[in-house]
Amino acid sequence: MTAPAAPYLEGLNPEQKICVEAPDGPLLILAGAGTGKTRTLTARIAHLLATGRARGSQILAVTFTNKAAKELRARAENYAGGGGGGGVFLSWAGTFHSMGARILRHHAELVGRRSNFTILDASDQQRLVKDLLKSANIDPARMPPALAHHLIERWKDRALAPDQIPSEEKQAHDGRIIKIYRAYQDQLKNLNAMDFGDLLMECLRLFRDAPEILEQYQNRFSHIFVDEYQDTNVAQYLWLRLLAAREKNLCCVGDDDQSIYGWRGAELGNILRFEKDFPGATIIRLERNYRSTGHILGGASAVISHNGSRLGKTLRAQEGDGDKIRLIRAHDGKDEAQRVCREILTLREKRVSLDEIAILVRSTAQMRSFEEEFLDLALPYRIIGGARFYERAEIRDIIAYLRLIAQPDDDLAFRRIVNVPKRGLGAKSVLCLTQAARDEGASLLDACSLHEDSLKPSGLKSAAIRKLRDFAAMIKRFADHKDALPLETLAEKVMDESGYRRMWAETKTPDAETRLDNLAEMLRACGEFDSLEGYLEHVALVMEIEAEAGGERVSLMTLHAAKGLEFDAVFLPGWEEGLMPHIRALTQDGLRGLEEERRLAHVGMTRARRNLYVGCADMRLIHGFWQDCLPSRFIAEIPQEHVEILPIAQPFGAEPVASAPLFSPSEGGAEEASEEESSLFSVGARAHHKIFGAGTVSRVEGKKVTVRFDDPPSEKTIMAGFLIRLPDGDSQGSSNFVMTGK
Ligand code: ATP
Ligand code: MG
Repeated sequence: MTAPAAPYLEGLNPEQKICVEAPDGPLLILAGAGTGKTRTLTARIAHLLATGRARGSQILAVTFTNKAAKELRARAENYAGGGGGGGVFLSWAGTFHSMGARILRHHAELVGRRSNFTILDASDQQRLVKDLLKSANIDPARMPPALAHHLIERWKDRALAPDQIPSEEKQAHDGRIIKIYRAYQDQLKNLNAMDFGDLLMECLRLFRDAPEILEQYQNRFSHIFVDEYQDTNVAQYLWLRLLAAREKNLCCVGDDDQSIYGWRGAELGNILRFEKDFPGATIIRLERNYRSTGHILGGASAVISHNGSRLGKTLRAQEGDGDKIRLIRAHDGKDEAQRVCREILTLREKRVSLDEIAILVRSTAQMRSFEEEFLDLALPYRIIGGARFYERAEIRDIIAYLRLIAQPDDDLAFRRIVNVPKRGLGAKSVLCLTQAARDEGASLLDACSLHEDSLKPSGLKSAAIRKLRDFAAMIKRFADHKDALPLETLAEKVMDESGYRRMWAETKTPDAETRLDNLAEMLRACGEFDSLEGYLEHVALVMEIEAEAGGERVSLMTLHAAKGLEFDAVFLPGWEEGLMPHIRALTQDGLRGLEEERRLAHVGMTRARRNLYVGCADMRLIHGFWQDCLPSRFIAEIPQEHVEILPIAQPFGAEPVASAPLFSPSEGGAEEASEEESSLFSVGARAHHKIFGAGTVSRVEGKKVTVRFDDPPSEKTIMAGFLIRLPDGDSQGSSNFVMTGK
């Protein structure tokens, strides 16, 4: 009599089973996207638990994101607990950072901290570096704080403390950076703080200086697991190697074609070195892809095959060919967002859950047009791994200026920006001003213009009073222009004359560029509104809609954040030269940068199960300027047999424009029908309305269309111009439907 197969083995293919059941010892699973690496890793953990080879507390499992760690923990515990044992708990599953922090909190005194040390976020770190440069009298023009910070981070990626830097690198920038690095580390210590890099570097130091503690952890962790191994940097690698040195039960899974963190110090060499570091290691390859249908996999494999430096592998789709990759050609970013969102409505008509739909962008600045479109169509969405557009600091700062211009009593807005950029009006001045304003019953802005006699008793000095006056005068100047200038011009004036844009332009950090991009995006949004008040109302509403929770949502995130995830339908917009591949990667790292961008493209494509859409626009607003765009070279690398080009529709009122060819000049975009709006609708047709959702047309009378809406059921008569025609319920595949005005 044979025992029933363990639940975690169900459905696994023979190679996967070998990985799961392999005896102890070093194990590397090196395989392409969607081959079940994560699933196999989880099953192996469950197997160890279920067979009693390890207890939950003896397993260290590191993954890339907190979300992935949580999922892995839930799945493994469930698998293993299902066997009847129950109560299995993986207490050491998390990210490298969280595991490092956990170890360090136990031994904080040995690395010169107290156990409640703070972990500084990126902006705190940069501020610290900036202050240090300043006190060292280093001209920020010659040594931008962001650059110094970047160099320190890269050293930490390699686990190099100040006293371990190779001498030739010490000389860089006249040896000044190393001094700053030293001062930075001292300062962290004084603050009882650590940055992300320290969480591993200090751990390594701890292990080196206190071998008995290392031994304790080596004994504790009988088995170590690592997902997304291709993205580990040197510090993480050394950390793993030390912890696994005794038991040698290290199981790593990864894919060289998905390495996308080279810019943050990830070393592909770590994968290649595995066999050397762990002699006798078992290396298993998986080749069956269970995630994507044939055309998607064919396209993704073809793109990555253009990279020179790769191990090379075959991937076989387990599903049929499925739908072709659809190419959405748009006129500009807004048009692209509209087309994408209409495709999403179509997918929803076909019963694809919004939770199973994702838009993956190369740069966060691309997100806004999608957000606006979602709001317009009342499509619920979530942003993974980042703030939504109107929640970003730089956007909220400018909104605060605009609010104060529209509404001088808005003290909250006043407080937010009175010293942004720095005007020498710190917390103390604002405190005094608040006192004076309260005494006089005035708003903070009005209080700035009070007579000195009323201001001085609060403790304000003449210099501060002068600065407050200047600030108030500037806001008043803006306010005087508010009805005469188009909103876009007003907002631009605010950004420039307040010094706000200059502040970011001079910051020179990688995130500063993103912020400038976002500000340019914001100006574009302003261009769509007639009045300041109208815009502010829109923003307030956006915030409110965003506060609502629950229900299905479309996911919007960067390609980097999408690693390891999968969705039924994936949209990859903005595949244009300069955006994807990104110009920054090309200019900074040349061919290496291009290959990393290509891996990123490959990661994006392989997130899709059954529907993949790639978008590109003919024009795009970049840093506030309209630029003609060329389709990404990656599009041309997808063999034509896997691609279907969606017909190019002209936006209403637009002249046809000549587009750069995607592949070869042969195929032509179909022209679009310019029918009377109402003739698009006939009885039985499907339609979408931004408030009432989807429904079926029950009557057409001139421009008036009566629709029976699905949910909640109701019948309404609506002007055709406010409806979007959806493909008919039973129509297959024809996703190129016509849109009418909004
Ligand atoms: P990535 O490289 O993108 O991280 P991966 O190799 O980790 O991918 P998984 O996420 O583990 O792949 O698996 C991809 C999909 O295939 C999942 O939905 C998983 O459940 C499914 N899958 C894996 N193995 C099998 C199998 N043997 N039979 C059926 N489905 C499978
Ligand atoms: Mg995975």
